Amino acid sequence: MDKFEKIVNRIDSFRDEMIDMQIRLCSLPAISPASGGEGEAKKAEVLLNFLKENQFENIQVLKAPDLEAPAGYRPNILALYKGKNSTKTIWIMTHMDVVPPGELALWDGDPFKAWVEEGKIYGRGVEDNQQAMVASLYALKAFQAEGIEPNYDVGIVLVADEETGNGKGIDFVLQKSAPFRKQDLIIVPDAGNEDGTMIEIAEKSILWLKFKTIGKQAHGSTPEKGINSFKAASFLITELTKLYHIFGDKDSLFDPPVSTFEPTKKEPNVPNVNTIPGEDIFYMDSRVLPRYTIEEVKEKIGEMIDKIEKEFKVKITLEEDQKAPAAPPTSPEAPVVQALKRAVKEIYGKEGKPTGIGGGTVAALFRKANFEAACWSKVDDTAHQANEYCIIENMMGDAKVFAHIFLQE
Ligand SMILES: [Zn+2]
Repeated sequence: MDKFEKIVNRIDSFRDEMIDMQIRLCSLPAISPASGGEGEAKKAEVLLNFLKENQFENIQVLKAPDLEAPAGYRPNILALYKGKNSTKTIWIMTHMDVVPPGELALWDGDPFKAWVEEGKIYGRGVEDNQQAMVASLYALKAFQAEGIEPNYDVGIVLVADEETGNGKGIDFVLQKSAPFRKQDLIIVPDAGNEDGTMIEIAEKSILWLKFKTIGKQAHGSTPEKGINSFKAASFLITELTKLYHIFGDKDSLFDPPVSTFEPTKKEPNVPNVNTIPGEDIFYMDSRVLPRYTIEEVKEKIGEMIDKIEKEFKVKITLEEDQKAPAAPPTSPEAPVVQALKRAVKEIYGKEGKPTGIGGGTVAALFRKANFEAACWSKVDDTAHQANEYCIIENMMGDAKVFAHIFLQE
């Protein structure tokens, strides 16, 4: 039996223990104070014990002060598992926090008392992000149990505050500590697809805009005495669809391959049918390919606003609700992408595909700091939903993919 087979068998022998760990972590709801919870301190204790019991070294807890958390801080854990060679480190970063369960009536059970049914573990956080967290920890426990060394050092990063902005999570870690080096592989297993082929390496810029249109209120029977803000805003929405053509380039790295400009939220205007609304507010969610700048998009939008203002004699103001310019993408040729591709091929017999997505991921924070990071995991993407689940075989497979990378030359 070669080393990798031994590790794989050992990982399989941990199956029940891994399920138990999932259930235990799930029972400590690490909801951030911003979402009404108490933070990650209790969950971090369990994980720290695991790291201490399993020969991890240089264990560090970086505490981001947070007066809203009962503990007074948000824990971020760094730990090292020594390999044969320390010239580079393979980092696996997962997050401890979970989102609130949402409407409890939509759940088939208690979201914080995880249950197992037909090969799946159900509970809040079991997929996002405990699946990959437990997988990475037990992959290393298998190395320890077999007395096999990874080829390179492996670093584990367990962060707080991923779901509410990263300020007390990886942002804090990157400010307070500099454990990452240019040659390191950084894997963030917090995005993926159902067959495990998606390796996320790039994202679009995010631009959320609020459009406020001011007209003049009037009685519904005498529109000529007012200016219908809702009507003007509707023409603006139609005008905005031209953005799809103006910024119409396609990039097959991305899914979908185009920039998107969608009107989304609408605030209520008048409460009754027989009033011409004098004020109207709607929002647009844009995801822009990195080849375009947010500024050039906003400039075009400004021209469209001018046109509608003149045509309808309204005043339209524009506010940025969120603006996140895309980080420089990780190269499809980057070592971290190649390592993931090799491992996915070995475990699942499939070709991993470097992909760009429309949503932001934590990997972008690494990319902005000029590290080449990739997101990968095999998930059904039930994150944040009621009855969130983790397919047990996916958790086992994630562990084997990580183990394969730890043994690569
Ligand atoms: Zn997540």
